[in-house]
Amino acid sequence: MTTRKADVLIIGGGSIGLSCAYYLLKLGRKVTIVDSKEVAKGSSAGNAGHIVPSHIIPLAAPGIVPTALKWMLDPKNSPFGMKVSLDPKYISWLLQFALACNESNVQRAIPPLNSLGQLSAKNFAQMIAEEKFDCHYQEKGLLFLYKTEDAFAGGKHEADLMQKHGIPVDVLDKAALHQREPAAREDVIGGVHFTGDAHLNPALFLKLLADRVRAMGAEIFENTPVTGFDVADGKIRAVKTGAGDFEADQIVLAAGAWTPAVAHDLRLNIPVQSARGYSLTMSATKVMPSHALILGERRVAVSPLGNLLRLTGRLELSNLDTTVSTKHIAGIERAVREYIHLDEKLDIHETWAGLRPTTPDGMPIIGRSSRYRNLIFATGHAMLGLSLGPGTGQVVAEIVQGANPAFDLSPLRAERFW
Ligand SMILES: Cc1cc2nc3c(=O)[nH]c(=O)nc-3n(C[C@H](O)[C@H](O)[C@H](O)COP(=O)(O)OP(=O)(O)OC[C@H]3O[C@@H](n4cnc5c(N)ncnc54)[C@H](O)[C@@H]3O)c2cc1C
Repeated sequence: MTTRKADVLIIGGGSIGLSCAYYLLKLGRKVTIVDSKEVAKGSSAGNAGHIVPSHIIPLAAPGIVPTALKWMLDPKNSPFGMKVSLDPKYISWLLQFALACNESNVQRAIPPLNSLGQLSAKNFAQMIAEEKFDCHYQEKGLLFLYKTEDAFAGGKHEADLMQKHGIPVDVLDKAALHQREPAAREDVIGGVHFTGDAHLNPALFLKLLADRVRAMGAEIFENTPVTGFDVADGKIRAVKTGAGDFEADQIVLAAGAWTPAVAHDLRLNIPVQSARGYSLTMSATKVMPSHALILGERRVAVSPLGNLLRLTGRLELSNLDTTVSTKHIAGIERAVREYIHLDEKLDIHETWAGLRPTTPDGMPIIGRSSRYRNLIFATGHAMLGLSLGPGTGQVVAEIVQGANPAFDLSPLRAERFW
């Protein structure tokens, strides 16, 4: 078997792995990427494409468990689902998640999510301008639509909290909302507009990023799954793959929802649970929304992507399985029809499923491993793996270089779970 030498080896060429590659190459490092499938696809290509520095409240927050249970009483329309399994790792993840749904977890998560979100948004704008990426990037904010007073009140409450942390937001009454978003149906009663957010076509962006890192000199091995490791003296000596072994100075583990399976061979228990979601993408409709939207009560995302419209939704604690559910795709379309004007007949191009790599406390895992000195984690970004990509890429490159990272990364260390 061939043994190849690498400077920095990145396992996984999704949003996170490619962003790490880009910032490492900019610092003059040599980069090799191995991916079990194709790069630039992973769990991001069909996602909503929202770049959301406003999302500073973690998934594990007070009230989420009862809300999720209530949703599950209406399986046809529920934005949430979960597999039934007695796997001890799954049960332990659920318990850890339930225990983290408290105010102190929210307070702990806000500073790193805020810093990483702001850094990432700044890096997106800079990278897209510098590299001239044509990917329908729009700095038009993210608009939440509400149909009930209760949900609107909840939205305003969250907006208040976020404003206190410096997130720009406009609260819109019915008239202001309809003026700002003419695609909204008459019975939408108000909205909250996070004006610092943005959106883009994620498949186009990732393809351009992959092409760029190739052009900058990255070596990319596709259809090359990592199958094991040789370790000795607190170091990974070799990464084993179908294409032979790689000996690398530094290794970045960015395998998204597959991270626990890869880390298992290192005898590391990384509590990342996959959370499946779906999207459907169609030709532009007659009344295209002019903003990226979230439908407040239904938790469905809407993304105008140039001459395409994408609807995205559901969060299901799942196996590593990307089978598309036509039932849930239909549920997403039904929900969107309640909020915006959609053509009666849609010209659907693609239906898709992807896996969010979700941690029990709702924060990503970024940092150097305490067990293997040449291993760095970059995973667990859950619903924000596109949005937080370029920020993660920058701080991972800083860790590899031994430089001070842009902000305090200690709350994001994997060791918080052990
Ligand atoms: C419906 C839906 C909508 C979403 N909307 C948004 C959004 O609007 N904004 C946002 O920020 N995020 C969104 N997300 C979340 C986002 O898509 C994920 O957080 C993101 O894809 C995670 O990126 P990643 O690079 O960590 O993982 P991935 O993109 O999944 O990449 C992991 C890579 O690792 C590879 N791999 C797996 N196993 C191995 C192995 N053994 N060896 C080598 N390689 C391996 C895989 O092939 C894959 O290419 C959404 C997710 C879903 C499902």
